[in-house]
Amino acid sequence: MTPNAPKSPTESLISGERIRIAGWENDSITDGPGLRFVLFVQGCERKCPGCHNPTTHAIDGGCWVSIAEILEFIDRNPLLDGITISGGEPFLQPAPCAVLSREIHRRSLSVAVYTGFTFEEILCCPDIDRLSLLKETDILIDGPYLENQRSLNLKFRGSANQRIIDVPKSLAVDKIIEHFW
Ligand code: SF4
Repeated sequence: MTPNAPKSPTESLISGERIRIAGWENDSITDGPGLRFVLFVQGCERKCPGCHNPTTHAIDGGCWVSIAEILEFIDRNPLLDGITISGGEPFLQPAPCAVLSREIHRRSLSVAVYTGFTFEEILCCPDIDRLSLLKETDILIDGPYLENQRSLNLKFRGSANQRIIDVPKSLAVDKIIEHFW
């Protein structure tokens, strides 16, 4: 492409957008259904006792990476069913995570998001970016990790209080619809 060539809508949308991340995993089968690219965002203020990812807590830790670079890695794997945004807390960086998720949906892949917030807290919050990310989420694993409800028998979750929510269906009927995998 020449330097003066017009940008495609996708390029315009994602140019300059960055996410502060702790790292990623190219192919996981434990962070949601199917084969998934997992992005660990950096920063979480909740500090749940027993959290498995304490190195993701520092708000100024990790490193910045562009959405374009993340998409490059995702596009290299034709076997992916979707991506999972984990943490850290994705809803502390809702705007770029929503942009990334929109691009994932354009590729006909699904988006799962882990959050320490509950579905109800996100819906009640008057933050347009958080609502945008929620609307771009197919599967929300919600709620903080509670050590006293920890179980190794739970699929895709660490503690029994966390729910695996079908977000599009829940928003459509205005009632929480859970997956019971
Ligand atoms: S919300 Fe998640 S990342 Fe944050 S402290 Fe709790 S378990 Fe760890």
